[in-house]
This record gives sequence, structure tokens and C-alpha cells, in this order.
Amino acid sequence: MKKIYLDYAATTPCDPEVFKAMEPYFYEKFGNASSLHSYGQEAKKAIEDSRETLAQCLGAKPEEIVFTSGGTESDNFALNGVAYALEKKGNHIITTAIEHHAITEPAKFLEKKGFKVTFVGVDKFGLVSPEDIKNAITDKTILISVMQANNEIGTIQPIAEIGKIAKEKGISFHTDGVQTVGHIPINVNELNVDLLSLSAHKFYGPKGVGALYIRKGTRIETFLRGGDQEKGKRASTHNTSGIVGLAKAIELCNKKMDSEIKFQGALRDRLIKEIPEKIPEVRLNGHPTKRLPNNVNFSIKYIEGESILLSLDLLGIACSTGSACTSSSLEPSHVLLAIGLNHETAHGSLRISLGRWTKESDIDYFLEHLPKVVEKLRAISPLYEKK
Ligand SMILES: *Cc1c(COP(=O)(O)O)cnc(C)c1O
Repeated sequence: MKKIYLDYAATTPCDPEVFKAMEPYFYEKFGNASSLHSYGQEAKKAIEDSRETLAQCLGAKPEEIVFTSGGTESDNFALNGVAYALEKKGNHIITTAIEHHAITEPAKFLEKKGFKVTFVGVDKFGLVSPEDIKNAITDKTILISVMQANNEIGTIQPIAEIGKIAKEKGISFHTDGVQTVGHIPINVNELNVDLLSLSAHKFYGPKGVGALYIRKGTRIETFLRGGDQEKGKRASTHNTSGIVGLAKAIELCNKKMDSEIKFQGALRDRLIKEIPEKIPEVRLNGHPTKRLPNNVNFSIKYIEGESILLSLDLLGIACSTGSACTSSSLEPSHVLLAIGLNHETAHGSLRISLGRWTKESDIDYFLEHLPKVVEKLRAISPLYEKK
């Protein structure tokens, strides 16, 4: 059976070149980067070279990069680290209603610890208004965290503008760049951010490794305590192979970025145009233009995202939904609710995310089968019958 992966926003396969670059660090170059002998020094050199590469790709300085275990750790580090470093200065944090759980959960935990958190809402496209952020600022605000692009609906936020506001007020500004790094051009200075999270497995690198960019002078409390790796900012033996893989991955992404944006963007636009032509009563979620080049998200009325997902899976097509009926909660995605969808429409959402190995013929196959799947499911849907 044909197998078509359209879930690159969930994770990406490793690029073969990334895998090749990592391989020696499992065998002959296995040293602990903290060791003084040649094994250790070889690993240390590889890590420092990787730091240099990543910094260069972000417009940062190497000493502003801390390697972590991924996006979740970087987000937790940024929130907790800044909150506890500045708790004497203030206890107010601003974030948004559409962040990844790696931000909302630590934010809610900080609320329990006595911090005040404002979750700023978004418009129907999922856009955060810089004006709303500005209005939420109090003299106790110490941190603002707004994701650069949303993982479900792909909307890209006006980060530079929000960063300018934060800078003027002397407030630390973090962005979750897990969906953007490697996919669109990023420069931490143009974005006016003090902290930025990224994760290798979202841009063709390995799982379990990421980084937090921390602008020089930003006050942040150590999150993972232990040895003095990463200048005492993040303990634990370095994941040398992972870090080497991350650097190789970002390097490849930068090389291919222009053509990937063009190619994936064209396929995205084709899906956005043709899905409503082929299927009645669908709604595009996210911003029509300010969105990731590889993200498409539709609500398909009267049926459940999970049923569509499972039917597509039987045809060899993998995508994703914001409906969560089989997970522990019956609540649909907080992101879809935040853009104003009712529960029923939110439960019928389908995310299609494209990547390096998506072919035009994959989209042909998808567009051929999706309408048939929807028609079949609607035929047995009690919601559709009642209409
Ligand atoms: C995937 C993702 C994360 C979590 O990253 P991990 O490396 O999987 O921990 C955080 N934020 C966003 C926006 C993501 O898409």
C-alpha cells in the first residue's frame, strides 16, 4: 500500500545526511565532553562547532546557546528560569491562549506557586494583537511569552512588533520557535526576542535534543541542576550525537530553505484552494496568508476529525486532528476553541503538514481520497442527517 506522511508538524524523519553526521558519535567518538582526555576533547570540539553553526543560523552568539533535551525542556526552562530569577522584581507573566502545552502547563504551575499569568486571546485567524499584549502589561510584568507560529493552525505572530514593546518596557521576551526554526528565516535580533526555544526533531534532526537561545544579559535561573555543563546553565552529560545532528539539520534547512518554502508553499496553497472546491461545508483554520508554508488546517463539518484520521490511515495517509475524543479529555483543542470554533466544528478538524519528502503526487492521492472519505462518513453521521 502507498504510504503518505502528511504529519511533519508532529515530527519529521531524520535527514539521511543528519544520521550520517551523527553516527561516529555513537562509536569511535563516544567520549564525555567534560573529560579532559582526547576522547572528551573530541566530543567537546564537536559540540562547540555545533553551537557555532546553530548560533550563526539564528543570528546569535555561540555563548547565547544552551543545548537541551528538546522543545518542552526549553519552554519550561525559559518560563521557570526567568520567573524565578526575577520574582523579587515582579510576579506577572503574559502569554497567549494558543500556546503549546509545553508553555501553558508550566504557566499554570507557576500560577499555583503565586505568579499571576494573563492568557491573552487571539482573533478568528489565531493572531495575537500587539496592542492586547501592551494593554496586559502591569508594573509587575517580568516575562512575555508568545509562540512564533502555532503548531496546529500555522498562524505566524507579529513577534518583532511584540518584542519591540517588551524591549521598551524592559520586560524579558520569549518565543517558542519550535515550528519555525528550520522552516522560515529567523534572526533573533530582528525578532527582538531575549529567549527562543527550538527542537531538532521538528526540522529533520533527531528526537530528544533542542536548544534555548538566551540573549546575553538575560537573567535566568538554572532549571536542571547538577554538573557544570553548559556553563552551569544546564547540567547533564552532553548528548553529543544529538547536538551534532541538530547542527547538521539546521545547516541543511538553511541551505534548502528558499526552495522548500516555495515548493511546500505551493502545495499548501493548492490544498487550501482545492479542498473547499471538492468538499462542501469546510472551514480553513488559521490565517489565509500569515501561516507556515507547510501547514493546512480545515474543519470538516458534521464529522469527527478522528474518524477522518482513521479512515485516511487505512488508505496509507497520515495526518492529524485537534479532536481528542479518545484521549483522557473530551475537550477539543484549546487552540481551535480560542479562535472561536464551537465544540462540534473543533472536533471535525484535520491538520495536514507537509515536509521535505512530500511530492506533488502525494497531494494528488490525498485530494482524490479525502472527498470520498468525507462523503462516506457524512452519510452515516447523525449530525449531517439532521441538517
Ligand atoms: C513539538 C512542539 C513542542 C515540544 O517540543 P519537543 O521537542 O517535542 O519537546 C513545543 N512547542 C511547539 C510549538 C511544538 O510544536
